[in-house]
Order: sequence, then structure tokens, then C-alpha cells
Amino acid sequence: SPAIYVENLRKVYGNKVAVESLSLEVQQGEVFGFLGPNGAGKTTTIKMLNGLITPTAGKVSVLGKKLGDLGARKQIGFLPEHFRFHEWLKAYEFLDFHGSLYGMSKSERKKRIPEVLKLVGLEHRADSRLRTFSKGMLQRIGIAQAIIANPKLVFLDEPTSALDPIGRRDVRDLIVFLRDNGVTVFLNSHLLSEVERVCDRIAIIKEGKVAAIGPVDELLHAE
Ligand code: ADP
Ligand code: ADP
Repeated sequence: SPAIYVENLRKVYGNKVAVESLSLEVQQGEVFGFLGPNGAGKTTTIKMLNGLITPTAGKVSVLGKKLGDLGARKQIGFLPEHFRFHEWLKAYEFLDFHGSLYGMSKSERKKRIPEVLKLVGLEHRADSRLRTFSKGMLQRIGIAQAIIANPKLVFLDEPTSALDPIGRRDVRDLIVFLRDNGVTVFLNSHLLSEVERVCDRIAIIKEGKVAAIGPVDELLHAE
């Protein structure tokens, strides 16, 4: 079964249609890019797919389960666009807190936190406070919390938008690492250059509607 299945999804805020007639499938192990300008409906879509907001209409199934099934929670990682980093916390404490939000036991967290810190190249900063971290380091910590519970599926909302070129490259490398490890990634971005480099397939969204969907090569390099 696909990692994500969406049929005729729609979200209306008041009289503003944020997303309409959205249908797509994301296969397991795929890096799927959701590309569009600000205000296109990307964040609204991610929030519907991970159960943070309720669609106005339509069907969503994620990892073979209906939306709202909390059993799926631990298998889904999420890095929001404007993440609250609680900068007074140490990196270890921050990840410990988020691990508990994903439902991990204390012993699971204790084992896993050094692993994820190593994956994002920050094992030497476990005891540093987040306020001493650069934007790029914070975003790597953000990805570390998204993957702390070993999810099968990760949603990343504009993970590189505030970063310099080195920070962007680090995030791209982590996305490639996730794919190499069989994790499905749903990536929101307004940057063509980002999705082009890491995604297998993309959907282009404009004003709440998908304008095109397909493999990156076909969509972006077709004459
Ligand atoms: P994107 O992530 O592509 O920038 P969003 O999903 O954040 O787009 O927003 C899509 C549209 O829905 C925008 O016009 C935005 O202003 C509107 N919108 C988003 N959230 C709300 C909300 N809570 N209430 C009203 N309008 C909203
Ligand atoms: P940003 O402009 O920083 O991308 P977001 O789109 O993430 O902001 O929105 C920040 C918060 O404001 C979210 O909770 C979102 O749902 C809400 N929001 C966004 N657009 C609107 C809107 N037009 N009316 C009301 N709330 C909105």
C-alpha cells in the first residue's frame, strides 16, 4: 500500500479555500516534493496529512491507516516550518522532551538520542544549549527530533528556507540519508532547486490546486 493516499482533499478556512481537489499517492521509500509559492496550501496540506487539522472534505490514509488513528503517531515524524526550539534547553534535553511526545519510553530515548545526534553530526553538542546553535545546527536538531522515534514517514515543512548554502546542503544530505534507509519523506518547499536535487517525484501546487504531478525529470526538464 502507498505511504500516503489522498483523494479529493479540501480545506476551507472561513470563506478562504486553502486546498481543493487534492488527490495524490506517495509510495513507500519515496522522497516526494510539494512545490509551490507562499500561500499555495503546502502547510495546510502537511497539517491535514499528519492529523494536526481536520480536512473540510476528502479521504486521507497514511501508512495504511485512517487520519486520526493515534497508533500511527509514532511512525510519523514532523518538522514544522516555524519550529519552537526552546532555546534554553540543552540539545539532549530538547530531544528527550520530543522523544516523550512521540511516545518513547525513557530507556528508548536514552539509547536513541546519541544515535540521532550522531546522524545529524552534533554528538559533541549534546550538553550545549540550543541558543548557542546556528540556524543550520538548529534545523539539524529539528530533523533529529523528527526521526527520533524511527518513523517510516517524515514530513518536512520548508526545512531549508532560512538556511545558508552549507545549511541547505546538510539538510539535503540528511534527506538523502533517510531515503537510503527506506524512510518516506514528504518535503514542502517553495524552492525548485531544493526539490529538484532530492525528490523522486513532485507535485506543483498553486492556489490550493495541484497544477502538475510526476517524476522530477519529466516535470522540470521537459521541453
Ligand atoms: P503555504 O504553506 O503554501 O505557504 P498555507 O497552507 O500556509 O500555504 O496557506 C494557504 C492559504 O490558507 C493562505 O492563503 C493562508 O493565508 C490561508 N490560511 C492558512 N492557515 C489559515 C488559518 N488558520 N486561517 C485562515 N486562513 C489560513
Ligand atoms: P508564515 O507566514 O510564517 O508561513 P503560517 O502560514 O505558518 O505563517 O501561519 C502561521 C499561523 O497563522 C498558522 O497557525 C496558520 O494556520 C495561521 N494563519 C496563516 N494564515 C492565516 C490567515 N490568513 N488567517 C488566519 N490565520 C492564518
